Amino acid sequence: AAALTLVPTPIGNLEDITLRAIRVLGEADLILCEDTRTSGRLLQHLEIKKPLQAYHLHNEHQVVPRLLERLAKGERMALVSDAGTPGISDPGFLLVRECLAQGLRVECLPGPTAFVPALLKSGFGAERFSFEGFLPAKKGRQTRLRELARETRTLIFYESPHRIVKTLTQLAEVFGPERPASVSRELTKLFEETLTAPLGELAATLAARPAIKGEIVLVIEGAKLEKRSKYDDSDDDAADAPDPDD
Ligand code: SAM
Repeated sequence: AAALTLVPTPIGNLEDITLRAIRVLGEADLILCEDTRTSGRLLQHLEIKKPLQAYHLHNEHQVVPRLLERLAKGERMALVSDAGTPGISDPGFLLVRECLAQGLRVECLPGPTAFVPALLKSGFGAERFSFEGFLPAKKGRQTRLRELARETRTLIFYESPHRIVKTLTQLAEVFGPERPASVSRELTKLFEETLTAPLGELAATLAARPAIKGEIVLVIEGAKLEKRSKYDDSDDDAADAPDPDD
């Protein structure tokens, strides 16, 4: 068995946990949790009683050495985050990297993650996409947006409800208000909703609402470079050049 297993947990609907995830959690010597209270409730629901330890962005550097010692002695650990897959816009990376560096076996179970249903519900191309996670809050935000304006793959962002209108407005400015976009809210939950419309329209629709609640995934259709628009100020002609593979 693996020393460390990353275990995805539901992003809302408690039915979204695999039989394997339940078994691995039940077999772990220690469950590392982003928040022991949040995960404690899930484990109680699953009737799993195991020692829990906090593992989050603020203590990971401090706790990793001791965890590695215990893992090296043969303890089996499971890592869970508050929701979805650990390591996806959540803590996990450092522990995985250090385990691998020590030759310890790491496993990651497939399971819930918010961006997959949001991508597929958008109806935009899913053959190639770029998961962007959270945009920088302030510093570097405009630069990132400008870098992404010409990206032809579908773009996926995580966003908080109180920033979504501002983000859509900024995106409409940089990508153009006509760019198709999709907002998925409260995925797998009672008030799940997906709105798909051009960026400008989406910003206006959400700005007109009293208060937007719940977690949000924003999906944006990739740039169509053959159709030049006033938002594309680049002068390279890669879009017109013949493909050397043809
Ligand atoms: N590890 C998680 C995953 O695998 O998707 C992501 C964790 S990240 C800290 C939290 C963000 O994920 C939220 O701000 C939101 O953008 C997205 N998210 C999580 N659950 C969601 C849900 N039920 N509906 C929509 N978005 C969700």
